[in-house]
Amino acid sequence: MTGSILADFGDLMFRCPKTGQDFDSGFRTDQQDLASLPSAAHLRARCPRCGETHELKFAEGWIEARERRFRLARID
Ligand SMILES: [Zn+2]
Repeated sequence: MTGSILADFGDLMFRCPKTGQDFDSGFRTDQQDLASLPSAAHLRARCPRCGETHELKFAEGWIEARERRFRLARID
């Protein structure tokens, strides 16, 4: 299979509900692990964007590979 650009393994990202900006939760995971979690599973993560601790549903997170983040960082 070819053509997939989704990261299979990488950093679990979330969107800060206060600032609307993406941030790295500090967790590393893969698509299989993420998909195997119950939809209500959540974690607490300290947000580098606003400095608060958010309770976040894993279902709202997504995985980003480091390569993609480097590319985004260059655009910024
Ligand atoms: Zn935040």
